[in-house]
Amino acid sequence: PPSYPATKGHSRRSPLRRMLSSSWHSDTRCGEVSVQGPPPSRSRSTHTDYNGGFVLPMALQLGTVLVGSPRQDGTISIVTTSAEADEPRRVQFPAPGPGSALSPGLPRWANYVKGVIQHYRGGPVPGFSAVMASDIPLGGGLSSSAALEVATYTFLQQLCPDDGDLVAKALACQKAEHTFAGMPCGIMDQFISVMGKEGHALLIDCRSLQTVAVPLADASLAVLITNSNVRHTLAGSEYPARRRHCERAAAALGKASLRDATLAELEEARSRLGDEVFRRARHVIGEIARTAQAAQALQHRDYRTFGRLMVESHNSLRDDYEVSCSELDELVAAALEVDGVYGSRMTGGGFGGCTVTLLEAGAADRAQQHIQEKYSGTATFYLTKPSGGAKALPL
Ligand code: ADP
Ligand code: MG
Repeated sequence: PPSYPATKGHSRRSPLRRMLSSSWHSDTRCGEVSVQGPPPSRSRSTHTDYNGGFVLPMALQLGTVLVGSPRQDGTISIVTTSAEADEPRRVQFPAPGPGSALSPGLPRWANYVKGVIQHYRGGPVPGFSAVMASDIPLGGGLSSSAALEVATYTFLQQLCPDDGDLVAKALACQKAEHTFAGMPCGIMDQFISVMGKEGHALLIDCRSLQTVAVPLADASLAVLITNSNVRHTLAGSEYPARRRHCERAAAALGKASLRDATLAELEEARSRLGDEVFRRARHVIGEIARTAQAAQALQHRDYRTFGRLMVESHNSLRDDYEVSCSELDELVAAALEVDGVYGSRMTGGGFGGCTVTLLEAGAADRAQQHIQEKYSGTATFYLTKPSGGAKALPL
């Protein structure tokens, strides 16, 4: 690839370099920097995953826990401690039998669980009782939904083991969200929730589904998640709309996905695409490149470059992809005024939710103070480190 120095054979290349050089061949192509997720949870998909691009999430030190045991009457009974305010916290339904499939219904939160049970790869799932608790904000862009799916799947693995294939696990959870929650999400959230690695961000090639862990454990560094505590209702309809725009752009360029497109090709097709679709595609193509660059910067502990890419990412999400909102823009602007902050951007699907800020560990207190002072709303902060993915906890 022209953008990388030539290397003499595979053994001298790092896994990161191998992944990037095999799949990225022009300096006008792009990816996405996204820092997210917890031990079974993470942030919502960030718009390059469903375009076959790169994403760079991390799992947060937040999580969803499911505790339960099998029961003999063929009933599944679940209680959650943290449903949306308008929903009952308990649900009960028959376990799916050979001829009876589950279908989505109410309460909405149970659809994530039902979808995972339906798509579980080690079934048939027997009856069980379980209680769920989570410290992840619901709908805050930190992917409480993937946390719920992956926690459920991990629980089912204890009840009736599957073959343990991690990629298939993440894909089954994604399918559950598509078919039972009606959200056409990419694969990032479920992947990082399953595969998060302590002290590392995870570069995921969403086309090949290969992953490379990139160290992010520098003691001088901190990751600050700031929740705007707003959720604009647009999020539900705009996400699928963005996805359709990207598909339209790829089709117009004669590409399987925007991963295969370059900015030069996009520019050529500008008049055919119309301004809106053009800008959506420009974000995605640019973001895929930024993500690849960010992974390299992180590998080299070049936090300044990483931070600059985060800011470019935010600006592109705001101006070209139009998924930010005034609250997220305020939080990012305030963070960037603080000495010791490398970069900041929105994370998740947008229209509210959280920002992620990379900063010197010593700046964490003053950053929180300053952001809260400048923010017109009330922010919640999570100072976090990259954590591991979902696991069974012995009782
Ligand atoms: P995000 O994934 O960014 O948090 P989503 O809208 O994708 O936002 O998912 C949020 C939804 O997931 C909630 O409205 C709720 O239905 C469900 N959910 C997540 N975690 C839990 C939980 N612990 N208990 C019940 N429902 C949950
Ligand atoms: Mg979600």
